[in-house]
Amino acid sequence: MGNTSSERYDAIIAGSGPGGASVARELAKKGRRVLVLEWGSGAPVRGSFLQYLRWQLVPGRSLLFTPNLLAMVRGIVTGGSSVFYYATAFPVPHEMLRKYGIDVRREEREARAELPIAPLKDEMMTPMARRIMESARALGYDWKGLPKFMYQDRWKSGYRFGYYGDPHGVKWSARMLMDEAVEAGAVLVNGARVDRVIIENGRAVGVSYTACGRSRSIFADTVVIAAGGIGSPVILRKSGLREAGYDFFFDPLVTVCGTVKDVRRRRDEIPMSAGCIFAREGFVMTDLALQTMLDRMFAAMSLRFFKIFQSRKTVRIMVKIRDDLAGRLTDSGGVRKELTPADRERLRKGADIARNILSHAGARGMYTTWKLAAHPGGTVRIGRILDSNLKVKDVANLYVCDCSVIPEPWGLPPVLTLVCLGKRLARHLAVPGKRTKKTGGRRGGR
Ligand SMILES: Cc1cc2nc3c(=O)[nH]c(=O)nc-3n(C[C@H](O)[C@H](O)[C@H](O)COP(=O)(O)OP(=O)(O)OC[C@H]3O[C@@H](n4cnc5c(N)ncnc54)[C@H](O)[C@@H]3O)c2cc1C
Repeated sequence: MGNTSSERYDAIIAGSGPGGASVARELAKKGRRVLVLEWGSGAPVRGSFLQYLRWQLVPGRSLLFTPNLLAMVRGIVTGGSSVFYYATAFPVPHEMLRKYGIDVRREEREARAELPIAPLKDEMMTPMARRIMESARALGYDWKGLPKFMYQDRWKSGYRFGYYGDPHGVKWSARMLMDEAVEAGAVLVNGARVDRVIIENGRAVGVSYTACGRSRSIFADTVVIAAGGIGSPVILRKSGLREAGYDFFFDPLVTVCGTVKDVRRRRDEIPMSAGCIFAREGFVMTDLALQTMLDRMFAAMSLRFFKIFQSRKTVRIMVKIRDDLAGRLTDSGGVRKELTPADRERLRKGADIARNILSHAGARGMYTTWKLAAHPGGTVRIGRILDSNLKVKDVANLYVCDCSVIPEPWGLPPVLTLVCLGKRLARHLAVPGKRTKKTGGRRGGR
């Protein structure tokens, strides 16, 4: 039996990605005593490849494979995957959420007023991204600049995009929400992996977690699981909710690329500068400049070794599909999911269009890279396991707030939506009368 802490909180939040950090910030600002337990490190973001490897590419932890070798990445670090994301704000699926009794229009207005969301300024759109956009438009596609989560006034020509995390604070991430949460009084403990929720008489009363190799328990009035599309169902399963982690999506993607003679990729290229949503067909397409190291990894994974040295001439489009709900997670978070015939057809159709656009842009030697996935979700869906307040239906005081709650296949990057859901959940939790005396914000652990 491990340690039991005598400290008591209004809310314990497991995970500090966009979902968890958003709830933490809002609750802390409303004067609630909040404890965030984060499995990953809270060390300053250096933006180095080494740090990226440690936080996003450790097999079995942050890099997961399906049995068919489809790779899936997640950031295990304060801020979650948003530390490494491509900072594009896609529309909130209001119509889908309304079907489940959820209206986040007010929260979206707030989020858009607080966060730096806007299409790129003209000078930030580089010639490579512009070349793709012009070609797509000439072929009749509604390809346009995408809103980015970036403090564009801090950006300078030559600045490298934060693929490996952004130490300059130009790319917004959920880490900034966590910083604000701590400033407002939340306590953040890093290196603390939540194992299970302590449930007594149908009511969540705390969590068990492992830190520094020791198991501990801590208690609160409310528990919010926000460990991401894979992490949350694993915790819930261990807590007795066996139905979590089935029939989910992970938004698989391929990239199609080729080389052009007359444009060179710049060091300050910004991925996903512009793109087009094919809503009916079920895919989205964007430009996708990669940093040299990642570009080479993509070429090597596709066995195009001679392309490794053509990185600066490479022009690339990402095709991401809305995949069918399918598959299961193992109890330890192993991903067992195969693409359905309809998923394969969407990928094929999207890749054909991408080839056309690139070919019209003058690209030659085209090839399609290995399949990847970056947005696991729908593993603890609203409607099935959660009610419209994101509460686990059969357990009092237990909530989930991250990509796992999304109720239907969607196929678009979710960060803006998760921030809105976090705000809405905090509003719901901050009912009068639950306030206890607050102490100052703190960070602990690794
Ligand atoms: C390369 C890449 C590019 C992307 N680009 C975009 C984009 O442009 N726009 C967009 O909207 N989205 C993008 N995404 C997706 C987006 O980053 C994720 O969907 C989003 O971060 C999910 O948020 P979340 O809160 O569900 O979970 P996560 O971000 O996964 O956060 C979960 C947190 O929980 C922690 N955790 C896990 N297990 C435990 C545990 N047992 N105990 C304690 N803590 C735990 C993790 O360390 C992590 O900090 C991208 C993702 C990747 C990988």
